[in-house]
Amino acid sequence: MCGRMETVAYCYNRNRLEVAEMAHSRQSDQEVYFYCPECHVGVVPARSRKNNYFFRALSGHLHQKNCSFYKERIEGSGHYSPQEHSSAEPERLPPTILGAIATQHRIGKPSPRDLPQLIRQAKEAPLVVEGSFEQVVEAWNTMSRDKKRLTSLTINGTQGTYEDRFEFIGDTTKNANDFNWEDKIIYGKTCLAKGNREGVYFLDSIRKFDVGEEKRKVLNIIIREEYSKQKQKKYIRNLLNDGEKRSDAFTLFIHGCRPEYNYERKKIGLSLPDNSTYKGVCVRANKRAQR
Ligand SMILES: [Zn+2]
Repeated sequence: MCGRMETVAYCYNRNRLEVAEMAHSRQSDQEVYFYCPECHVGVVPARSRKNNYFFRALSGHLHQKNCSFYKERIEGSGHYSPQEHSSAEPERLPPTILGAIATQHRIGKPSPRDLPQLIRQAKEAPLVVEGSFEQVVEAWNTMSRDKKRLTSLTINGTQGTYEDRFEFIGDTTKNANDFNWEDKIIYGKTCLAKGNREGVYFLDSIRKFDVGEEKRKVLNIIIREEYSKQKQKKYIRNLLNDGEKRSDAFTLFIHGCRPEYNYERKKIGLSLPDNSTYKGVCVRANKRAQR
């Protein structure tokens, strides 16, 4: 008998429901207590062999028999870990917010008497899934059209959906200044080219813009070595095939930085942020051209 993997649990210290991936990445911060929202057993975030995140019951504990996360203890094994059994891998929940929410951390453990009421209240609030820029783009990239329309996404406090928070760069009724680069994610086809120096790349938008005196110029972004070696951005170095110098089989996503005309370079460029967790650029292989 294998139950489902639990991907959401109640966090007493932040007094809200949290997804396992978020909980796992913060584990070492402070003492944090999680509970199953159904049967209230103590749980801890864990990672499966396939790199999915879930909550498992604390060592020596079991979910209650009527809980949908209940699993029978296997004879002779001390505790139960879903990795050892055939539970279906949980589906990754798409982020509902680009960024991190500051929450007050409450110290200590709840009394067993208060727990049911706290969990009931937390379940009434919408589930917040925080995401980095890369995680939000990845979720959008793998979503169906319908799912984009139905999944909420908040950016800089503006609530919307994956459909309306992403905007195609190709709308020619708009020029560079007409796009909302701060509160939306602007995307469009791009050409990626390798620079002469290791780790340096150039991204040229296929879409052309008029900026100042300049007419019909592409947006040209320089990815410097410092950027392409960041943990989140390392993949950029593997997008082009071996020996390939340039390819236009990619989609560029921009958020939180605004195109500007650089008089020295005579190009429209972007200044990329030092910290690219929540803004900057992301690149993905075009769906049809995926290799
Ligand atoms: Zn349970």
